[in-house]
Amino acid sequence: MDRTALYWTARGDDINCHLCPRECIVSPGLTGACGVRKNSSGRLVSLNYGWACVAVDPVEKKPLYHWRPGTRILSLGTVGCNLFCPFCQNCHLSRSQSHGGLSWTNPSDVLRLLQDHGVPSVAFTYNEPTVWYEFVRETSLLLKREEKGVVLVTNGYISRKPLEDLIHLVDAMNIDLKGFSDRTYSMLGGTLAPVLDTIRTAFERSVHVEITHLVVPGINDSIEEFRQLVRWIAGLSESIPLHISRYFPAYRWTLPPTPIPSIRVREEIASELLENVYSGNLQSRNDTLCPVCGDVLVERGDPYRVRVNLSEDGTCPRCKTPRGIVMS
Ligand code: SF4
Ligand code: SF4
Repeated sequence: MDRTALYWTARGDDINCHLCPRECIVSPGLTGACGVRKNSSGRLVSLNYGWACVAVDPVEKKPLYHWRPGTRILSLGTVGCNLFCPFCQNCHLSRSQSHGGLSWTNPSDVLRLLQDHGVPSVAFTYNEPTVWYEFVRETSLLLKREEKGVVLVTNGYISRKPLEDLIHLVDAMNIDLKGFSDRTYSMLGGTLAPVLDTIRTAFERSVHVEITHLVVPGINDSIEEFRQLVRWIAGLSESIPLHISRYFPAYRWTLPPTPIPSIRVREEIASELLENVYSGNLQSRNDTLCPVCGDVLVERGDPYRVRVNLSEDGTCPRCKTPRGIVMS
């Protein structure tokens, strides 16, 4: 049964959805831009509530490198997205409205799945969790009651009120920062400011935050824009991990993969201001070292082979230097 959605107001026969900054006006019988919130006889309903694809992944795959390293995480996704990235690697989910291939899953089923797989946390990932809001929030409430970890892997394109109502249930977020201008975000159907607002809010509420920046030729080539992005992150905190990731052709974007030197030059730029810079979709080791004694604290091989060499409190076992890694 379709679930009544949150955050909307009626405007005559139309409905104004307030879940994300798009503020769609949804006419009767139609859906908003995300494709999964429908005006059904004057009521906004969530079409994807409870429809999930499920997998168990290493937490490093989200990617989260400084949160419970070496653990596995239950990954849940569904259909729909509120951005329109032409290079989307999960377009079979983000652009779909069909429940085909998804399993009906209640929030309480998620707890059982955690037990079955013996994993301590859940990530809402693959598509954009914002547009699955009602399911994500109800499930997160249950998970927090059972002291399980909650992770969002998100584009950060959500309005302030829904974010405020969810964020106290969230332990960690990997937020995509796809560029640092409205020009870049306009190619994806969004704007920059709400994403920055989400990152800042999460950080200020003590959510563990990591940022992913996918370098896509023809979308975010500007080195100057990348410098601005790095400066903004450093202004928030120099210790926020930044994952600079290599693009491969997907969906409607057919340009060749990001040249490796483009990733390397951005790594160098980011490392001037940020303490934790990693590269994704490359055959790099991405180890985390102790900044004082140089010991390898987290060794990351390929694919997702992880060896953790940290004290229980996340400090270096040799010289006791804190490294800002959340262990539990
Ligand atoms: S969540 Fe969907 S329907 Fe609501 S404003 Fe965003 S894109 Fe539109
Ligand atoms: S925000 Fe993520 S899921 Fe949505 S279209 Fe972009 S890449 Fe795909």
